Amino acid sequence: MKYDRILIRYGEISTKGRNRNKFIDKLRKSVRLALAPFPNIKVESSRDRMYVLLNGENGIDIIEKLKNIFGIQSFSPAIKVDRNVEALKQASFELVNSLFKEGQTFKITPKRSDKTFELNTEGINHTIGGHLLENIPGLKVDVRNPDINLRIEVRKEAIYLSCETIQGAGGLPVGSSGKAMLMLSGGIDSPVAGYLAMKRGLEIEAVHFFSPPFTSERSKEKVIDLSKKLAEIYGSIKLHIVPFTDIQQTIREQIPENYSMTTTRRMMLRITDEIRKRQEGLAIVNGESLGQVASQTLESMFAINEVTNTPILRPLITMDKTDIIKLAQEIDTLEISNRPFEDCCTIFVPSSPKTKPKREKVQHYESYFDFEPMIQVAVQEVETIVVKPVDEEQSNFDSLF
Ligand code: ATP
Ligand code: MG
Repeated sequence: MKYDRILIRYGEISTKGRNRNKFIDKLRKSVRLALAPFPNIKVESSRDRMYVLLNGENGIDIIEKLKNIFGIQSFSPAIKVDRNVEALKQASFELVNSLFKEGQTFKITPKRSDKTFELNTEGINHTIGGHLLENIPGLKVDVRNPDINLRIEVRKEAIYLSCETIQGAGGLPVGSSGKAMLMLSGGIDSPVAGYLAMKRGLEIEAVHFFSPPFTSERSKEKVIDLSKKLAEIYGSIKLHIVPFTDIQQTIREQIPENYSMTTTRRMMLRITDEIRKRQEGLAIVNGESLGQVASQTLESMFAINEVTNTPILRPLITMDKTDIIKLAQEIDTLEISNRPFEDCCTIFVPSSPKTKPKREKVQHYESYFDFEPMIQVAVQEVETIVVKPVDEEQSNFDSLF
């Protein structure tokens, strides 16, 4: 017996009251994007669940894709059956018989969200359980720890059978929380920060500062490859590449060496905020983790953050490096991040950057030069590319909507 659909449970979305429809729409979009390689599937959604109708597509491959979609609490391969006792008996038999192996036990977990069906839960247990015991030799009941747990859910429109519940990725559907700019370097941290931000429902556009010839085409490639990984979550991602060489050189000429890193970060933040405005985002995400390096002390953040009122989200702020690395491994970005590259920050990094910079001092140093025109030029010259996942660069997602 083959499952004909996958039942998706929303989890946290169900607590969102009036915003529910928006959440469901975003989840639907995520599901359609992830399942773009399966043209025959159909997605049906209702207030409390979603169904992917397989229409002959490979359920096993689809299950793998569903595991990575944010906003899904759990899901189950399922069969839809007419509300009719004979049909229920037959389908239950076929399903359990196809899973049953010598010596295995089962139980039935009935659920009636519609009470008008002719059998109540006890009746379902009795009638279907009896039918299975009669027709599958060797099958035994074990209500505590069964090998096969046949869930029978009676709803208004039909009855659904399932035997397996698979854990989803949790979180909220991408886009349901709004849009933010992700400051994406080629390092380990920022892709992980982007992943976690997306998990809480943010749509992300990446911003990368590029300083040729001090940073090479290869380090740009690396950031594109990291973006491709993040694009797997939502089908595509915009990457804004900012030409940063002139500003960095000016900083080197204008700002005392021990404050150059602080000013570099402030300029990056001003530019990112300018791009955010143009793209109508509401926040900036970065990969900072408290105390990890000189620019990530509280004093540094205090001095750097001054240039904007825009919320700066730091998903990794309380995480240890070892835990960040573990996550990077899980989401498959670690290997790319570990490739050797020159970051625009490390190239110009002073031998002893201030770990406790002062706002007044950095303001004072910056007051001798007007950076604003250079910031405007950098923003004007941003190169924006739409990055798609590796295996789907050829397909055209837009045709799906
Ligand atoms: P990462 O591993 O993400 O590079 P890091 O530990 O190396 O982080 P820093 O170099 O201090 O830390 O960078 C802190 C954050 O600033 C990064 O996580 C990223 O969000 C942002 N950032 C640094 N360099 C760049 C860059 N070239 N382009 C865009 N954002 C950057
Ligand atoms: Mg870095």
